[in-house]
Amino acid sequence: MEVWFTENQTQHLRISVRVRNILHHERSEYQELMVLDTHEFGRMLVLDNVIQTSERDEFAYHEMMAHVPLFAHPNPRRVLVIGGGDGGVLREVLRHPTVEAAHLAEIDGRVVEVARELLPAINNFDDPRARVFVTDGIRYVQEHPDTYDVIIVDSTDPVGPAVALFQESFHRAVFAALRENGIFVQQSESPFYHRDLIRQVQASLRRVFPVAALYWGVVPTYPGGLWTYSVASKGPDPRRPDAERWSRYGLATRYYTPDVHRAAFVLPPFVAELVEPAGRDAGA
Ligand code: SAM
Repeated sequence: MEVWFTENQTQHLRISVRVRNILHHERSEYQELMVLDTHEFGRMLVLDNVIQTSERDEFAYHEMMAHVPLFAHPNPRRVLVIGGGDGGVLREVLRHPTVEAAHLAEIDGRVVEVARELLPAINNFDDPRARVFVTDGIRYVQEHPDTYDVIIVDSTDPVGPAVALFQESFHRAVFAALRENGIFVQQSESPFYHRDLIRQVQASLRRVFPVAALYWGVVPTYPGGLWTYSVASKGPDPRRPDAERWSRYGLATRYYTPDVHRAAFVLPPFVAELVEPAGRDAGA
């Protein structure tokens, strides 16, 4: 018998993946949590029936979330990931030797425990520089002013406890939690299906930070496949990777390179129009 998992990506669009095995299924305090073994994407984390990450395409997303801000920052030493309980962004952050502390503020401790056990290829929680705080990322940021060089929000879609992560009051708290030269990135959904959200996040970041911009990448399991990341900075130009540092590290990445970094900020017109006014972003 064939078993399929179906995610309703929009009200009128579904994606289905053929399941080899259901490895885990529970209702945590916050959400319904599943790990599926699938034919096309390998192991897959699903929360409230929404695909979060898969072994097959996770690198494309996690590398672009971590390496764009870390190679744009001149000396990233303290990094905070909010959400990201699968550990994929944290794993990429830890590949930077400048990083002394990589903290994760995840609201649902069960996601971390299950990911550690069933998705070991995606995470590296045992690195001594890594610490996990099971807490609401919004409160955590408010309680840690002037603490981090880079803050990355790897959240679920803007529903439930993730709603406020896309709002201006949170962006103001992030600004305060960042040290001088700090850089902030958050996943900001699909330019096909979530256009108002991208506009709202970009406008908010422009009000709060001197520099804000949008970049994109490809993630096959997310709606539309084309995904956006909103970035803001207290100073450094997020479009400019430190290519010398990249060469020195010799990281074996599968998606990110400094050329991909620069190219990701070149937006097709239907995406560029979500970033208004054009004159106030990261400069020409
Ligand atoms: N890459 C995935 C995506 O883009 O859909 C997200 C992966 S990660 C598993 C998302 C995590 O964000 C979930 O584990 C969820 O519990 C967490 N989360 C949601 N709201 C949060 C909040 N306010 N503070 C901390 N973590 C939160």
